[in-house]
Amino acid sequence: MPTPIVFSTPDEQRSWADDVRRQGSTIGFVPTMGALHRGHIALIDHAHSLADVVVVSVFVNPRQFNQRADFDAYPRPIDDDVQQCAAAGVAAVFAPTGAAMYPQGFETTVTAGPLASTMEGAHRDGHFDGVVTVLTKLFSILRPDLAVFGEKDFQQLAIVRRLVTDLDLDVEIVGAPTVREPDGLALSSRNRRLDATARAAARAVPRALDAAIAAARDGSVDDALRAACDVFDAAPQVHPDYVEIFDPNTLRPVPTLEGRRVPGTTRIATAAHVGDVRLIDNRDLFERA
Ligand code: AMP
Repeated sequence: MPTPIVFSTPDEQRSWADDVRRQGSTIGFVPTMGALHRGHIALIDHAHSLADVVVVSVFVNPRQFNQRADFDAYPRPIDDDVQQCAAAGVAAVFAPTGAAMYPQGFETTVTAGPLASTMEGAHRDGHFDGVVTVLTKLFSILRPDLAVFGEKDFQQLAIVRRLVTDLDLDVEIVGAPTVREPDGLALSSRNRRLDATARAAARAVPRALDAAIAAARDGSVDDALRAACDVFDAAPQVHPDYVEIFDPNTLRPVPTLEGRRVPGTTRIATAAHVGDVRLIDNRDLFERA
């Protein structure tokens, strides 16, 4: 199993990508913050099905954290990440330092628009500006043919699609479904920080979405939201930031479910604190069974 080449500076990574492109190969890109799990590997596999070589970035981007403690606590098992990339056939891992990405004098940022004003954007000040700024840099360094993102971060996926359209970035954005544990919990790098009690409590997150989906079949928006909140109320360690039922294109809350009971028209998302770990999840409210 060949080990991927690990690059730590934008210049080295750029010139390698330029060579790959010159040889006629297409590049699929999977941006991550590391602590890789099966969800990331599914994105890598998807990228392999669409491109000749796959590059993974591992960068805990300080600019997308609005809380220093969350940034400091974020897991960084880089050796294990490189091994998982090797097993998944990744050609190169881009793992720059913060100083390499944001050297002295750095001052230009990209600002996300109204799609960033709800849900995660409303609860994490500046988060999506940090995301679109780092992605603009990563796309510019690698110039990938395509980049794969998880639907797990549904709002991020919508904002990234908007970014490449608005700034004429020449990269195809591909979405991939959320990978879950057998009990429904979405895989997340942050799950590593859950102890056994918190891990058990975290099941309330997918269950809240299940309950809302069941209630939405014949009920109203309020019925669905109440069903989710009832699950959270019964889980003492779990404190939701929001539960929102929204239009997947505008990301705006929907006032009614009438005329929407069709897959792909309406989504539900939540963020919840389980102890000091913040988890997010989302589903299609009317997904096919
Ligand atoms: P992160 O490392 O958490 O920033 O995530 C990097 C990419 O992996 C993003 O596109 C995420 O949406 C995606 N991702 C994270 N968790 C999952 C999951 N459970 N299933 C599928 N994709 C995921």
